This record gives sequence, structure tokens and C-alpha cells, in this order.
Amino acid sequence: MLGLTIVILLPDLAGVCRYRNITMNQTSSVTDRARLLYKTQIGWRRHLHQYPELSNREFKTTAFIGKVLKKCGYRLMKVNYPTGVIAELRGKDKGPTVAIRADIDALPVTEKTAVPFKSRVPGVMHACGHDVHTAVALGVAALLAEQRNGLNGNVRFIFQPAEEMPPGGAQYMIASGAMKGVDVIFGLHVEPQLQVGKIGLRDGAVFAANFDFDVIIHGRGGHGARPNLGIDAIVVAAEVINRVQHIVSREIDPIDPVVISFGEIQGGTARNVIADTVRLVGTARWLSEKLNGRIPSMITRAITSICASYGATCEIVDIGCYPLLKNDPAVNAIYRRNWEKLFGKGKIDLTDPVLGSEDFAGYLERVPGSMFRLGIMNKKIKADRPWHSTFFKVDEEAIFYGTALLTAATLDYMENGGK
Ligand SMILES: [Zn+2]
Ligand SMILES: [Zn+2]
Repeated sequence: MLGLTIVILLPDLAGVCRYRNITMNQTSSVTDRARLLYKTQIGWRRHLHQYPELSNREFKTTAFIGKVLKKCGYRLMKVNYPTGVIAELRGKDKGPTVAIRADIDALPVTEKTAVPFKSRVPGVMHACGHDVHTAVALGVAALLAEQRNGLNGNVRFIFQPAEEMPPGGAQYMIASGAMKGVDVIFGLHVEPQLQVGKIGLRDGAVFAANFDFDVIIHGRGGHGARPNLGIDAIVVAAEVINRVQHIVSREIDPIDPVVISFGEIQGGTARNVIADTVRLVGTARWLSEKLNGRIPSMITRAITSICASYGATCEIVDIGCYPLLKNDPAVNAIYRRNWEKLFGKGKIDLTDPVLGSEDFAGYLERVPGSMFRLGIMNKKIKADRPWHSTFFKVDEEAIFYGTALLTAATLDYMENGGK
């Protein structure tokens, strides 16, 4: 725990869900309504940005989201987890159930931007744009609530905690019944390499499968001048690190992108003492389904054999993994036609897959869906820094675009049943 007292100041929620006289039967009106809501959404986003909460500690964020949704007439479902919100709006007419997922957690990053709504929580920052995802989903919830009597189906919002921390919050939302009766799921992720006013789409694999693991190497301590009497865990660790890199360069088909990285190494106590224990913290990522299961076993084999050759022992701890995230082409087609209807042709990029991982993949193992990338780049305001950067910034206009698209896509799916 950080031991911080976080004071949350709720922005004025008045005005949300009041646009009752504007009909949304035509997708053209979606942009008008999204524009009306935009300022309120900016308030939500800036509030969340100022009071970010780490994975699994999103208590104030959860309360905030619940409050907005209740005000819009949503029924909150029971969540068997301390954080996260699942809410449903049932339309007047029978029809499919569309789920929309937004992740809500922040990162242990110190914000160094100069925005006036900079994080007020030391060492914690919304540096992956989950505050934007939340503001967009809340906006869609508000707009659809106004349309309630015209909806041919139901919409379920999943505000998911702990995306940033494997094993991830998706499984807890699913275990709470989030996907029960759901026909399709929509998701988004902000993209700092894509100009604001554009979206990125790609069919198939877009986010990697991963295997997060810790390695604890047990050697035998001794005097630094008599290494022959001990088993030097640091030397073993050095060889383990090199050997594991050879999995990527020598054992995997060069056509298949794979990365294995160690992000932490701990071991040793003094210059003249042979270290008896070293801990390595690693992650492996890949984009090809045929590598599922193979990479963890390759890593395990390589590490145990190196350790055994020195007479050391090791533990390999499976921290968790996210499946491969594969976008459904039919759902991408819904995004594409609605985006083009709203904003014209030529503003959709074919985004490259990345070796980052996303537990949205967990929902996609159950129903078809897709995660589109939402452009947030604007070099004039320096909104072009990568995810997780201390200088991460967003052109907030993206909130309008994301809200309009998801609202239109949801209505489209309800009208046409995904066809
Ligand atoms: Zn992230
Ligand atoms: Zn993220």
C-alpha cells in the first residue's frame, strides 16, 4: 500500500443524461450528441487523471464510475471483486447484448507533464490512457441511456480493474458474470502513434500472448576469492540471461516475432561474497498461436539445464499470462462502416500488431469482438510519447471520436445483429 490519503473531488455530474429531446435514430446525430457530452467527459477524464489508482486498488475510481452510471439509470451488477464495475442497460425491445469494456487502472509512474490536471498522487499516473478509455465508455453509457426506449437489445459495460498487472482483472469480471448472455464485445486502446481523428484497425492478432515468470537461482555462498568452494548464482544468472536470448534467435522461426526480456535482477550482498541466490524477473511475448505453450516450456528447459550444469537449482514461478488478442474481422467491419459513415473515408490506418499484451483477449476467448486503436497523437501539444512514459499525453479530442464510434457501432449491432 502507498499509505496515501486520496481526496476525491467529484466534478459536477449535472447535465449528463439530459439530452432527451435529441433522437439517435440516424448515426449522423450521434456526433451531435457526442459533441454535447464532450465537455462533461473531459471533466471526468481530468478528474480520473488527477486521482489515478494502481491495479487492484481502484476503489475511488470504482465509486466514481458507479455514481455516474447510476445517475444515467444503469443497473449495477454484483461484482465478486473489490474493484471494477459491471452495469447493464436493458433496451425496450429484445435483441442482442453488446458488451463494452474499459480498463480503469493506472501505473506506478511519476508524471512529468505540465498539464494543469496532472496526477496529484505521487508516483502514480494514468500513463496508458485508461482514464480516456473510462471517460469514453462512460460517455457511450450516457448517450445510450438517453436512447433506452429505442434500443433493440441490451448493453453491458465492463469497467475492468488491473489490466496492467497479470493475471489481470478480466478473469474476475468474467467470473462475476460479465459475459453471461453477451453476443459481442467492443474495446478500445489509445494509440500515441496514430493522429487524433483516426482509428487503427487490424484483423487477427494485434496484441501478443505473454508468459510472465520469475526465476530464483539457488547456488552456494562462499568467499569471493574461493569460488571453487561455492556455486556462484551470479555467474549462473549471467549464463541464463544469454541462453534465453538464444531461444529467440536460434530456436524460433525468424518469421515469428517473439521477445523475452528480463526487467529486474536481484542478488548478492558484498563484493567479496559469492552470491547464493539471484532472482530474475522476466516476460516473454509472442504473436503466433502455434507458440502457445511452447515458449514457456523452452524457457523452463533452457534455464533448468543451465542451472543443473553448475550444480545449482532453480525455481521458475509462473506469474500469469494473457492469451493472444485476435480481432474478429466481422466486428472490425462494423467499426469501419460506422466510422466512415460518421467521419468519412481515409481516416482508418492498418495498425501494426504489437508485442504488448492485453487481457481484453480473455473476453475474446468467449465471444467475437475487437479492440480498435484510438488516435491520440498531436505533436503540437507533445501528445506523441509512448505508452507508460512519464511524459505520456493525450489529445482529448480523441474522446469525442471514440465515444461517437462506439455508440454508433453498438446501435448498428443491435439493429443488424452483427451482419
Ligand atoms: Zn499499459
Ligand atoms: Zn493500456
